[in-house]
Amino acid sequence: MNASPYDAGSMGLMLNELRLPTIGKLWLDFAQRSDKEGWQASQLLGVLFEHELAERAKRRLERHRVESRLDPTKTLATFDFGLVPMVSKAHVMALASGDAWLEKGATVLIFGPPGTGKSHLGAAIGHALIDTGYRVLCTRTSELVQKLQAARKALQLPAALAKLDRFDLIILDDLSYVRKDQAETSVLFELISERYERKSLLITANQPFSGWNNVFPDPGMTVAAIDRLVHHSTIFELNVESYRRRNASDNKKDRQRQLPNQDSDGATTIAD
Ligand code: ADP
Ligand code: MG
Repeated sequence: MNASPYDAGSMGLMLNELRLPTIGKLWLDFAQRSDKEGWQASQLLGVLFEHELAERAKRRLERHRVESRLDPTKTLATFDFGLVPMVSKAHVMALASGDAWLEKGATVLIFGPPGTGKSHLGAAIGHALIDTGYRVLCTRTSELVQKLQAARKALQLPAALAKLDRFDLIILDDLSYVRKDQAETSVLFELISERYERKSLLITANQPFSGWNNVFPDPGMTVAAIDRLVHHSTIFELNVESYRRRNASDNKKDRQRQLPNQDSDGATTIAD
């Protein structure tokens, strides 16, 4: 058998220079297999390229997942649609595939009292969009407002807003916790205007629009913000009992079922 003119060392150097680490790791094994099985050269090259591309796509997805700052446990798989009968699963699944609504920069608004699954549902849509290849950022609204405010002070607001453009979707969690006296919230209005009909927002809020006068500096700005947000939007209202409260009372009931004998002093005796 002729010795290959390319030894492992020089191949490694070239693949490193070309930034093809996966081929660097795999080529020798595949080359040996190819020699043994008599592959066409194009088959060997194709297989190696495919592996490099697949590994790149996987790493890109991992980067997108990390940069999104989404809670990894809040996915569609862990979301129980049975608890929110007013939410159409089919509608959520359609949103979770992205496409049309992200392309026109539409908005998703999720309203409901605390503990009803707003953040979970928002995050679940976010994860699904990342799986499809989109880029998502999930942030507490107050945190982003503070960052944008700092950028404005440094005369960097346009650059900061432009940087957020790389995200197809920004999830603004708990918008109604933002108070206009906490920070100058006109930056929030600027974010909404900047993204209007271009890049999507998903907003969760405990209070429906009527409570938003506490968020923006003046009523005119509140109306203008809402007007932009609802123009192309899907609204989910989770008017159910708090999941946390329901869980707490279920646990209490379970405990009571397990522990039926309570002494008069309040101490609990565990029944056999
Ligand atoms: P909110 O943002 O409305 O205050 P969260 O999304 O934080 O509520 O939900 C509170 C907790 O209950 C979280 O741990 C969440 O995962 C869980 N939860 C709420 N609704 C559901 C649901 N429909 N299915 C599964 N878990 C849920
Ligand atoms: Mg929440």
